[in-house]
Amino acid sequence: MSVDVIVGLQRGDEGKGRFVDMLSEKHDIVTRFNGGNNAGHTVVLPDGRELALHLVPSGIAHPGIMNIIGNGTLVNPIKLVEEIDDIKSKGIEVNSRNLMLSSAAHLILPHHIYDDEIREAGKGRQGSTKSGIAQVASQKAMRAGARVELINDNPEGLSDIVYEGLVAQRPLRQEAGLEPIDEAAVAKEYIENAKRIRGFVTDTVLYLNQQLRLDKPARVLAEGAQAFWLDIDHGMYPYTTSSSTTSGGVCTGLGVAPAFIDQVTGIAKAIPSHVGGGPFVTEITETEQLKRLHGDMTTIDAEKGTTTGRIRRLGHLDLPQIRRSQMVNGIEGKQDMALTKLDWVRRYGDEVKICVAYSLEGKRIEIAPDAAYKLEQVTPIYESLPTWQEDIQDIRQFDDLPKAAQNYIEFIEGITKVPISLIGVGPRRDQVIVRDVLD
Ligand code: GDP
Repeated sequence: MSVDVIVGLQRGDEGKGRFVDMLSEKHDIVTRFNGGNNAGHTVVLPDGRELALHLVPSGIAHPGIMNIIGNGTLVNPIKLVEEIDDIKSKGIEVNSRNLMLSSAAHLILPHHIYDDEIREAGKGRQGSTKSGIAQVASQKAMRAGARVELINDNPEGLSDIVYEGLVAQRPLRQEAGLEPIDEAAVAKEYIENAKRIRGFVTDTVLYLNQQLRLDKPARVLAEGAQAFWLDIDHGMYPYTTSSSTTSGGVCTGLGVAPAFIDQVTGIAKAIPSHVGGGPFVTEITETEQLKRLHGDMTTIDAEKGTTTGRIRRLGHLDLPQIRRSQMVNGIEGKQDMALTKLDWVRRYGDEVKICVAYSLEGKRIEIAPDAAYKLEQVTPIYESLPTWQEDIQDIRQFDDLPKAAQNYIEFIEGITKVPISLIGVGPRRDQVIVRDVLD
């Protein structure tokens, strides 16, 4: 068993980036198994510079690690080339010895992105990142997609697919009022970029499985993008993404058998947030309290989208939702959790409310239901705990935390029944408490 997994337990933006980066160093291979360039996070390099990653796994920042973009991902060659160039501009080597791209991953084509734009401009708006993700996922399901393997095996065929897709879409773009484009030029640019990533393309499923069966098996890290409640099957459909975000998604998104999955670490944020529409059971709507929680909004950890600038909705910690995430991801027994933004909890005031169960049709339920409309019907049942007003950002030992903060962590552990082995106490890479609670 040598595949460790990191997944978000809430709705994304939990602060997975730093832990992925921290754990990368302990692995030989770091992988992405889901999503596209709509995800990603910022890695802080040893010299303090920041590196924004979208599809390339975080192991790229560490020498000697192989990084794999797995078959479950969705790839836009133009964005991938941009990302690789950006990484290289920071003095980091990127070549086929430290990056592989699955030949079975699906390609995001230019007309998928236009489709996304058209949908977002109309009634079917879903607040997507306009990266063409849902469009390519739906073509994949229709068995009408184009896979990465075409880049090497049939570049002319790929060129035709790109061009014809754009031409067929022309009336739709016109109707939506988009500027006319030169389809041939767009297709040419796409193919030129696709050719630049051809050296990375390989059968990553075969490679990974060979590495997992060596006498000394490779240690593999699977970094989840997005989070449980955005999972296409288990999230709050239709307010979800288009791929699997759970530990189960690792098996299909990389082509490794369940028996290889070892440690699964679920990341949760002490102040849950949500961007865009959809139910939010523990949402805080009271203006003054929201203002206090958000703070001055200029800091690096401000709850707003880095690219979109959209302000995130905030609420109280919701344990029934975390428990459902745990159940489906298998975060129980020997598995563990990380909790971020403990340093923000004092912003709630003298006490912090934690949702411990829901009331649904007069009945108490401990595990959240799986449908958006059912989440609209529940009422949260809260317990309150005293907070602390000390600044905890410089604390690195659990025992040095204020007693109320220790109680808060232990209260959550009492309900989730798994240890919180990593605690984020600030946005900086080193602002983490690592607890020796496993084993
Ligand atoms: P991801 O989308 O889950 O990968 O989230 P990121 O890793 O991009 O983190 C989201 C934001 O939360 C970043 O601005 C981080 O600096 C910030 N952040 C993460 N952990 C903590 C923490 O423990 N405390 C504070 N204050 N900020 C944090």
